[in-house]
Amino acid sequence: MSQFWTDKARDTVPYVPGEQPKQIDLVKLNTNEHALPPSAAVLDALRNVSGDMLRRYPDPDATALKQRIAEDEGLTPSNVFVGNGSDEVIALAWQALFARPCGVTTVDVTYSFYPVWAQLYDTELRIQPLQDDFSVDVEAMNQSQGTLLLANPNAPTGLALSCAEIEYLVQSRPDRLVVVDEAYQGFGAETAAPLIARYDNLLVTRTLSKTWSLAGLRVGYALGHQDLVTAISRIKDAFNSYPIDAVAQSVAVAALQDREWLRHASATVVKARDELIDSLRAMDFDVLPSAANFIFVQHRTRSGEELFGVLRSHGVIVRRWNQPRIENFLRITIGTEEQNQRLLVALAETL
Ligand SMILES: *Cc1c(COP(=O)(O)O)cnc(C)c1O
Repeated sequence: MSQFWTDKARDTVPYVPGEQPKQIDLVKLNTNEHALPPSAAVLDALRNVSGDMLRRYPDPDATALKQRIAEDEGLTPSNVFVGNGSDEVIALAWQALFARPCGVTTVDVTYSFYPVWAQLYDTELRIQPLQDDFSVDVEAMNQSQGTLLLANPNAPTGLALSCAEIEYLVQSRPDRLVVVDEAYQGFGAETAAPLIARYDNLLVTRTLSKTWSLAGLRVGYALGHQDLVTAISRIKDAFNSYPIDAVAQSVAVAALQDREWLRHASATVVKARDELIDSLRAMDFDVLPSAANFIFVQHRTRSGEELFGVLRSHGVIVRRWNQPRIENFLRITIGTEEQNQRLLVALAETL
């Protein structure tokens, strides 16, 4: 700290992302990256990047990308906002739409970036506890004032609400905004996106990081009524006109066109997830049902801290939080067959 720091720089408690180790022989199951490499169309698009594409500023409206996303969702480009990862999309939407006097309500075990934005933007954050089985108490959420913010499927639990449950929250109070963070859409949960045509108080955020295996590209988007999208665009254009560079725009369009890759890649992860769940249950783990590319597990007799350390010493890194209710849980990303096997071998040795 120095004399030049603002109060904001001093008081803000930043989000800490999962470790990105330099050691390459580690089995990295800690940040929910996809087990498979992205579509071959992505590398083709990269090979077609020209000097001229880089010489010029990119399209500030990412027109082709919005068009592509809108078509896939049966919406129009005016319903689509795109940004540098969904973290940026949510941060801009927070300033544009959530940071109103009535505050934001979320749940106690969820994405740990939400409290960081609440602090950064001076928003009152109300916390609704999850039920004993870690499911969302939909009726209690419905009683809550202010913007409702839910990751669906939730992270780190992996549990998902149905589209009907989201619709209940959306339609019961048209004067309240409901935000659904669908970062893990594509691994089995229902999407709320079809509701957008009928409700103007629903915002759905997505990312290419998880489902599309493009965490390194940094592209995310939001879907909603055009008045919501316009508000987010106004904040974006007051901050950065070009959040998505020319390479990312072209690569993202190419990736999204390859629906066959998506079908195959998602099915591969879902199959590996179900096999891993069976193996871990046979080793006395309680595993929450998952609609994501990760699982949330707790051993019946061994502590989370101990198992985290054992895995680490075997070169397998997973994610764990020193936080009430979940300190004995590990969040494990679904890896390749070989990676999942190394995880199981390491656990079998100690158990
Ligand atoms: C990973 C994740 C995000 C952010 O993803 P980006 O890489 O920034 O697009 C947002 N919400 C949840 C719940 C996530 O797990």
